[in-house]
Amino acid sequence: MSKGIARELTWIITSLWIAIFIAWVSDQWFWVLGAYLLLYLGRHLYSVSQFEKWIKGHSRVSYPPSSGFWGEVSHLVSRKQRSLEKHANLQLYKSEQFLAASMAMPDALVSLNETHQIEWFNRSARKLFVLKQSDIGRRIENLYRHPDFVTYLKRGHYDQSLVIEGVNQRPRVFSFKILPYHRVHKLLIVKDIHELYNLAQIRRDFVANASHELRTPLTVLSGYLEVMQDSVEPDSPWVKPLKSMAHQSDRMQAIINDLLTLSAMESETLTGDEGPVAIGTLLTQMQESMDQMTTEHSVSFEIDPALQIVGYEDPLKSVLTNLVSNAIRYTPSGGSITVRWYEDAKGAHYEVEDTGIGIAQAHIGRLTERFYRVDTARSRETGGTGLGLAIVKHILERHQAKLVIKSQVQKGSIFRCDFSPSRIVRKPISESEK
Ligand code: ADP
Repeated sequence: MSKGIARELTWIITSLWIAIFIAWVSDQWFWVLGAYLLLYLGRHLYSVSQFEKWIKGHSRVSYPPSSGFWGEVSHLVSRKQRSLEKHANLQLYKSEQFLAASMAMPDALVSLNETHQIEWFNRSARKLFVLKQSDIGRRIENLYRHPDFVTYLKRGHYDQSLVIEGVNQRPRVFSFKILPYHRVHKLLIVKDIHELYNLAQIRRDFVANASHELRTPLTVLSGYLEVMQDSVEPDSPWVKPLKSMAHQSDRMQAIINDLLTLSAMESETLTGDEGPVAIGTLLTQMQESMDQMTTEHSVSFEIDPALQIVGYEDPLKSVLTNLVSNAIRYTPSGGSITVRWYEDAKGAHYEVEDTGIGIAQAHIGRLTERFYRVDTARSRETGGTGLGLAIVKHILERHQAKLVIKSQVQKGSIFRCDFSPSRIVRKPISESEK
C-alpha cells in the first residue's frame, strides 16, 4: 500500500472513531455522522483547490499544499517535475554543446528542409554564403545560384560531392556534399579542399606532361624500328630482337595513350556535348566486326535496340570495347562470352559475362586502380596496359553510373555497368532493327 493511502486510512479510522464516540455519547447519530461526512468532504475539496493552485504555480501556495494524501501526491509530482527539469537541462546542455561545436567547425554547415529552405547555419556558412539571420526560411538556391549547385540540389543523388571553384569571390576550391537526415531534412556541408585539389592537379599535370614528353621520342623510336625491321634480311639474327623491341614500343605507346586518356578524364575535359547515345547500334557494329577481335570464342549478343542513354559517345564506346576485350583476353579459347544491353526498374545495364579464368574475391575491390593486375604476366602477354578498368570507372563516374563486378575463379566473371533511369531515352525502332 502506498504511503499516501496508508496515511489517509489512518486519518479516516481515527476521525471516524472520534465521530462514533461523540455520536454514542450525545446519541445524535444522524447529525454527528452527517457533520463528519461534510467535514471530510470539505477537507478534500480544500486540498484539491490548494493542489490545483500549487500545480499552476500560484506564488502564495507553498509546497506541500497539505499533509496526508494530497501532501503525498504533491510530493510525488514535485519529485517527477524535478527529474524532468534535470533531464531537460541535460538535453539543453547537450544541444548547446553541439551547437557550439558546429559553430566552431571550419566547414560551412547549412540545414535545409524538404523545400530547401534554410533552417539553421553555422558561422562558416554565414561567412561563405554571406547569410543573415533573416535568411532563415529562404530557399538556398535563391541565395546561392551557381548552376552546378542548383542542378546538384535538384537531382537528388547525393552519393558524390560536387566541386566548385570560387564561391562568392573567394578564389578557392570547395567541395559541396548533401547528407539527408531525419526523413526530409538535408545537411549541406561545404569543405575548403583548395590545397588537396591543387596537389591532385599537380599530380595530374605531371602525369599528363610526362606522357606528352615521352610520346614524341617514342614515336621516333617506333618509326626507326619499323624501318630497321623492313631492312634486315629474314635470316638475320636481328629479326627477333627487333620484333621484341617493336612489341615493347607498341606497349609503351598504348600505356601512354591510356595515361593521356585518364588525365583528360580527370581534368574534366570530356569533349563534345552530351546527347542520346545509341548503345544498341554501337553494339551491333561491334558484333559485326567481332571476327577481328576473336575467332576462338563464341560471342553472343542480347541487345535492346531501342534503349539509348544520354552521355558522351566516344568515351562510352571505349567502355563497351574495353569490357569485351578484357573478357576475350581473360577467357581461354573455346570459352563463351555474352554481351547484354537491357533495361529494368533500376535503369539501363551493359553487361559482359564470360566463362574465363575469373578473379578471386580479394582482388575485385582493387581492379579499377591504375596498373592493378591480378596476373601481371598474363596482362602483359595479352597486350594489357593495366589502365583499362581505371578508364572505364572514370567514364562511368562522369555518367553517374556504377561498375559492378561479380566473379568466381575458374568459372568466369560478370562486369556490369549500371546507368540510372534518368539517363534513359527510348528511340522508335525501325523495321530493319526489329
Ligand atoms: P589490363 O590491361 O591488365 O587488362 P584492366 O584495367 O583492363 O587492365 O584490368 C585490370 C585487371 O583486372 C586485369 O589485369 C585482370 O587481372 C583483371 N580482369 C579484368 N577483366 C577481367 C576478366 N574479364 N576476367 C578476369 N580478370 C579480369
